[in-house]
Amino acid sequence: MSQNLQVSKKEKGNNVETPPTSKSDVKSNESRGESPTCAFKGNYTKYSEKIFSNKDEMRSFVEASSNSYQFECKFCKKFFGEDFSPINVKTLKLHIRSDKHELATPKGKYKKELEILRAKYDEEELLTKSKRTKMTKSEEYDKKEKKDREGYLEFIAFTMSQNYSFSQISKLGKFLKTIKTQGMGFLTKYSFSEQEISKISTDCFGPFFFRSAKRAAFHNTLLFEC
Ligand SMILES: [Zn+2]
Repeated sequence: MSQNLQVSKKEKGNNVETPPTSKSDVKSNESRGESPTCAFKGNYTKYSEKIFSNKDEMRSFVEASSNSYQFECKFCKKFFGEDFSPINVKTLKLHIRSDKHELATPKGKYKKELEILRAKYDEEELLTKSKRTKMTKSEEYDKKEKKDREGYLEFIAFTMSQNYSFSQISKLGKFLKTIKTQGMGFLTKYSFSEQEISKISTDCFGPFFFRSAKRAAFHNTLLFEC
């Protein structure tokens, strides 16, 4: 149906070329061991000089087809004869890496060129992967920086809203810095309710301060006696 559409457009003198989307195109790609979904992505690449950039080895076998979104592989055309049909430019890399293309490539000079081509693709992929990883790491760092800055501002804003003096805010911040090294697990473990704090104050700090005061008083008595 889409082929009829293409023909009718050409007949009307419309030079806009439709990318290959028929089922037979997909089938032909599939039979060459290429991804059938590529033909349906809607993201087509036109045949141009750009595809040979840094890959002159391809000039031995890649040539233009009647559809500007496709190319013909001279080696595969010769090897597979009638079973051959033009290939989408978008799947060029897949084709070069396919077993069928390797089978159709004549031995000697062309096999060596194929190895070079595949190595170039591998290198490009590694480079892209490493660039992507670097970018992700930098994005993660920026995200953490932003979160930390927001947390700091929130802490200052809260303590100021509670009428803490600058000195108190500074002391509290420095105390939190120190206590962080001991672990902050208590933040999620305890409720910080007024009753809980009151109980700790009475049961734990009360006797502790009493004993400290008692020890200080005893020490002072000794000093006076001396
Ligand atoms: Zn081929």
